[in-house]
Amino acid sequence: MLKSDECLREYTDRKPLITFKRCHTIKDKLVRSRFKETGVTNWLTSNKPTGNYKCGDCSFCAQINQGKYLVFGGIHHTVRQFINCRTKYVVYIVTCSCGHFYIGKTNRPMFERFREHVNSVRTGKGCPKLINHVREQHGSDTQCLRFAGLELIPAPKYGGDGHRELLRKEAAWIIRATAIGPLGLNDRNEMNAFI
Ligand SMILES: [Zn+2]
Ligand SMILES: [Zn+2]
Repeated sequence: MLKSDECLREYTDRKPLITFKRCHTIKDKLVRSRFKETGVTNWLTSNKPTGNYKCGDCSFCAQINQGKYLVFGGIHHTVRQFINCRTKYVVYIVTCSCGHFYIGKTNRPMFERFREHVNSVRTGKGCPKLINHVREQHGSDTQCLRFAGLELIPAPKYGGDGHRELLRKEAAWIIRATAIGPLGLNDRNEMNAFI
C-alpha cells in the first residue's frame, strides 16, 4: 500500500524516464502519467558512450587507441560497445605506428594482455612476428604500439567461460582483416585450429 507522499514518484536514470501518480478512480493503483520515449534507456538505447576509452588507472592508458573508429588493413571499423583498458572478453587489436597490426583475444582485462605483448619484446616469449617486428623495425621501442578493443563478447551464459566464442570471433577478425597478410603480425600457425 502506498503512502500519500509516495503518490508521485519519479524514476530516473540520468534523465527522467517515467513518472507515476496515484489514480483517484482506481484506489491505490499506479498509472503511467507520462512517458518520454527519448529518455528510455535499455540495452538497445543505452546512453553509455561507445568506443575505446582510458580506464584512468593503469600503466597503459597512454597507449589505448581512443575513440569509436579504427582503421587498419583497409578496414574501417566502428566500435559499437563501451570498452576501456580493463574490459574483459574482447577481441583486441595491437597496432603499430607503421601500419602493421596484430589481432588477439582475452578474457582478462585488456591492458594485462597488452602488457604481456609489451614485455614479450624484451623476453622473446610471445607472438613471434610481433616481437620480431618491434625488435627489427622499431629498435625494441614498444611506444610504437597502441591497443584497442574491436568487439566485446557478451557475458557468457550458463556459467561458461566464453572461450569458444572468443576463439570464433578472433578467427573471424583475423580472416576479415587478413591479419596473416602483408600488414598482419599474426602467425599463420595460430590459424591452424580454424582452417
Ligand atoms: Zn588504463
Ligand atoms: Zn611497425
